[in-house]
Amino acid sequence: MRNIGKMRQGSNAKKEKLLYVETFGCQMNVSDSEKIVALLKGIGYSNTHDFSLADLIILNTCSVRAKAEQKVYSRLGRFKGLKKRNRRLILGVGGCVAQQEGERLLASVPYLDIVFGTHNLHMLPELVLAAEQGERLSQTAFLDNGTRLDLFPAADGEGGVSRFVTIMQGCDNYCSYCIVPYVRGREISRRSVEIIDEIREMASQGVREVTLIGQNVNSYGLMSPDEPDFASLLRLVAEVHGIKRIRFTTSHPKDISQPLIDCFAELPRLCGHIHLPAQSGSDAVLARMNRGYTRREYLEKISALNAARPGIQITGDMIVGFPGESEADFSETLSLMEEVRYADLFSFVYSVRPETRAAQLPDDISREEKQLRLERLQARQREMTLERNRSLVGSRQELLTEGVSRRGDQLFGRTSGNRIVNFSSDPSLIGSMVEVTITRAFQNSLLGEI
Ligand code: SF4
Repeated sequence: MRNIGKMRQGSNAKKEKLLYVETFGCQMNVSDSEKIVALLKGIGYSNTHDFSLADLIILNTCSVRAKAEQKVYSRLGRFKGLKKRNRRLILGVGGCVAQQEGERLLASVPYLDIVFGTHNLHMLPELVLAAEQGERLSQTAFLDNGTRLDLFPAADGEGGVSRFVTIMQGCDNYCSYCIVPYVRGREISRRSVEIIDEIREMASQGVREVTLIGQNVNSYGLMSPDEPDFASLLRLVAEVHGIKRIRFTTSHPKDISQPLIDCFAELPRLCGHIHLPAQSGSDAVLARMNRGYTRREYLEKISALNAARPGIQITGDMIVGFPGESEADFSETLSLMEEVRYADLFSFVYSVRPETRAAQLPDDISREEKQLRLERLQARQREMTLERNRSLVGSRQELLTEGVSRRGDQLFGRTSGNRIVNFSSDPSLIGSMVEVTITRAFQNSLLGEI
């Protein structure tokens, strides 16, 4: 990149410019988008929620399912008109679709200015400054581990009550259906010293809850001899003064260790919720998915978690219609759901992803059959979620008050088990722990009274 310093000076002299970021996919992307906003603030961009006012639009994309990827193209189509009306508008695509497509995306979308991959967030200000000068650029090179460690994206300093903290990136598991290892790269754990410093800084700004995030947080530190393992990291975070609650996501069942299970018994600040994707209840399907555990092993971990923290809320992910899934395999998935009694389940029809091993598997289940199975599964899950929520009516729950509810006339917080509770009280309570009695249960939320 030539003349970056020169371009930076010129650009800073201009009036404030507006940035609109649209985020697709998981918490990693939500967190990355916060960092994008913070990075671009440094070159004069402030955030807007109205894309029609923006000087720069960034789509932070997800390619984990074909549908999410198609959405990006349809959003780009929508912005084509805007770009025609405002020639100075800069359009950028980052995240997993950008990593997957790279230069091809620039070639197929002629009005697109910037493509940046999952390892190139730190370069975004330079790319934007170059685009301001009329260049079209793609930067999707993977970084080596040493450079990645030094460039781990830190928090954006924005405060708030509850924040994400990135502790690792990438994945080495190569589940046969998953594109993540190809678009996020190999697994790498961030230095624990930096993680704890960042959480201390957040606590000093009033943050009360942190969610440690990564593609597979349970394997944190396993490949880094100088770092603690994930259970030890949780114990370090629990000692940070001012942090009242700790959550983490996402977990891989095969990496749930006994020391981690012990944390649920011994660390009161660790919330009583775990997102533990099973993906299927059938051993045959789990083997074809290369998940590295059996149904029995998964259920043993669930029992151990229930024993360590009675009442722990378990959520998960399930894929329906994986190649070769028979009706008997699908019944195993339904029966696993009955045994676990998930508080919530994210379920999807299997989506073929390029480069993955499952893309080579013969798939003889019709689309209609897959859709029917998904509907059966989701209908049963809705019943179980409502039952779970109803079982909380009359109980007292401690909440961290996070903000004003969507309707605007109440406050909301989450229980330790991650259920949303709306309640009436004074906004001065935002950021405080409160105790409420649950008075009503709905499908997606609860109502409480202080
Ligand atoms: S653990 Fe499996 S599903 Fe999760 S990100 Fe890694 S490869 Fe994908």
